Amino acid sequence: MEKQKFDYFIKTEKNNWEVIIGLEVHAQVISESKLFSGSSTKFGAKPNTQVSLVDSAFPGMLPVINQYCIEQAVKTGLGLNAKINLLSIFDRKNYFYADLPAGYQISQYKNPIVGEGSLTLDMPYGSKKVGIERLHLEQDAGKSIHDLSPDNTFVDLNRSGVALMEIVSKPDLRSPDEVNAYVKKLRSIMRYLKTCDGNMQEGSLRADVNVSVRKKGDKSFGTRCEIKNVNSIKFMEMAIDSEAKRQVELLESGKKIDQETRLFDTKKNETRSMRSKEEAHDYRYFPDPDLLPLKIEQNFIDNLKKKLPELPDEKKDRFIKKFKLTSYEANLLVSEVNISKYFEEVIKNSDIKLAKNWITGDLFAVLNEKNLDIKDSPVTPKNLSSLINAISSGEISGKIAKKVFEIMVETGDEPNKIIKEKKLKQQSDPKELEKIVSKVLKDNSDKVLQYKSGKEKLYGFFVGEAMKLSGGKANPKLLNDILKEKLRK
Ligand code: ADP
Ligand code: MG
Repeated sequence: MEKQKFDYFIKTEKNNWEVIIGLEVHAQVISESKLFSGSSTKFGAKPNTQVSLVDSAFPGMLPVINQYCIEQAVKTGLGLNAKINLLSIFDRKNYFYADLPAGYQISQYKNPIVGEGSLTLDMPYGSKKVGIERLHLEQDAGKSIHDLSPDNTFVDLNRSGVALMEIVSKPDLRSPDEVNAYVKKLRSIMRYLKTCDGNMQEGSLRADVNVSVRKKGDKSFGTRCEIKNVNSIKFMEMAIDSEAKRQVELLESGKKIDQETRLFDTKKNETRSMRSKEEAHDYRYFPDPDLLPLKIEQNFIDNLKKKLPELPDEKKDRFIKKFKLTSYEANLLVSEVNISKYFEEVIKNSDIKLAKNWITGDLFAVLNEKNLDIKDSPVTPKNLSSLINAISSGEISGKIAKKVFEIMVETGDEPNKIIKEKKLKQQSDPKELEKIVSKVLKDNSDKVLQYKSGKEKLYGFFVGEAMKLSGGKANPKLLNDILKEKLRK
């Protein structure tokens, strides 16, 4: 495929503006229990049923670190090729809010558990490395519910104390498309590692999006605005586009950008100010006196490293080499760990080329339409593999296979059962096919004459008629051979 050129600039009469973006992603850690307490993290429970005395900040309660959450953060750091810090510190980030009973959030500030790393994006204009600044662990807050009553706010503390990883990128992103690719890649890596389920609808993955603009060619960055808590990739893309345009308009009319925190209004497709730098919180960070500095042994890291699964980039390389896939195809198949598992399951017993076409074509279309994850596919890997084998062996044609596939999607049935019951087996008996061809030529003797006097375009018509007469089941190659033979006479 030909490489495209990067071309995302805000273009005005006066200038081309480059957009600079950095993301702070909040990813909920997959763990049975919370970061500093034993309560469950399960999503969707009745309000306030998963709240320990630590999570509700009763006086005298002490946090106890959950070692599994540390492992999860370290694994994620390793997946991002990042430096793991052997010493990190938990700080108190102080602020008042109804859903934060302690009056502070335990987070990491100057000494995070994971330092600099990177991940690679595959863009239409080539691969692009994006820097990771840091990853730190912190507690989530509870949830204030404002829409259950006109004059009361309710507080649900189930989420209070759940472990989050805040993953901060360098300001290396340059367009909504790159942000889309970045979030997807990060999510993919965490899903491979089983450290975050990446479910944006349930809020397991959300981001603060920092945006600034500068004239194309300028060396230094402009003043940034931070758009808080955006919870879908689509909204991130929209928010960036509208925020960048707002900034360009201000700058071109001679005004300045105030560094501020903004909210994205998804209905109006615009960002609006939440608080300016002057009103910015002073969180008065200080090391939490209830928690010792966190020390990790190199040994602990090495053991986790040994147990890491194959990650998307490595899997992609292997797929390209071993299965002769293009980079584009390999990307499609490794983007989600469940897709790659499905593919590898199918090709255990069937043709790779057919498998890749069926999965990325017909199967993806169905899953998309039905909004299903591949692990819930009505067509199991085993059944798709049988269907492919029925095509490879010539038992059914590619065209009939589409029909069988449709029935498989509806019923979840085994293809061989469908082929048998619906009598869809390919007609490969030369005698039967000869009969069909003879009938077509006889019924259309006028067209046969035209054909023989030079109107060769009619060939397709004969094929079509014969196919129709066979109920679409004629073996195409055999049918063509017989037809050519007969027309020559
Ligand atoms: P803060 O706590 O003030 O939000 P962080 O260091 O946690 O600071 O995050 C800053 C984020 O803003 C990072 O993702 C960084 O890449 C991004 N960023 C920094 N400078 C700019 C800029 N000029 N334009 C866009 N993004 C920026
Ligand atoms: Mg921030």
